[in-house]
Amino acid sequence: MFSRFFKKKSRLVFEIEFLGFTDSILLKTIKEDIESRLPFEVRLYESLFDIESVFNEERNQFYSPDIIKHLLIDNNGNPAFRMALVNVDLFNPVFKYVYGEAQLNGKLSVVSLFRLHEELYTGRADYNILFSRTLKEIYHELGHNLGLVHCLNWDCVMHTSTSVEEIDIKGGFYCDNCYQKANIT
Ligand SMILES: [Zn+2]
Ligand SMILES: [Zn+2]
Repeated sequence: MFSRFFKKKSRLVFEIEFLGFTDSILLKTIKEDIESRLPFEVRLYESLFDIESVFNEERNQFYSPDIIKHLLIDNNGNPAFRMALVNVDLFNPVFKYVYGEAQLNGKLSVVSLFRLHEELYTGRADYNILFSRTLKEIYHELGHNLGLVHCLNWDCVMHTSTSVEEIDIKGGFYCDNCYQKANIT
C-alpha cells in the first residue's frame, strides 16, 4: 500500500488542454506514448479558452505568447505542467510562425498541429506522419519546461526544426545526454 502511495506521489502531472479539434485517437496515442516514456500522468482536457481573443487580423494568425498567458491565469497555483494543444497558425514576436512555444524551466507550453498536417504540403493526409510530428513537438516543448535547451544531435528531439522536413529527420525522443539533464525527478 505504501509503495503504491509513493509511486503515485512521484509521478508528475502533465495536463494537455486541447482546443479547436477533437481527435480522440490522436489524444489517446499522445497520452499513452508520454506515459510509457516519462514519469508523467497525462490528463486531457477540452479547453474553454476563446482562441479568437488572440487572433491577429493583419497576419491571419494567432499570438502564442497570449495563449501561454491564458494558461498562466488558468494554472495559477496548480503544480502541474500544462500544454495547450491547438490547431491554428501561431506566431510570436521573433518568428513568422512557430510550431510551439514553451517556458524554459517553467510549466507552460503550447503546440500547434496546424503546420504539421501533411496535406498542407503534399495535398495528401497522412495520419502516421501527423502523429509522429505532433509527438516530437510535444516532447520538444515539454523538454524546454524540463530545463532543456536546443541540442545539436539530430537523433534528439531537442534539435531545432524550422520546417516539417527537419521535424521528420530529427529523433523522436531525448538523446541520453538531454534525458540525463532533464528535470524529471
Ligand atoms: Zn525549442
Ligand atoms: Zn539532446
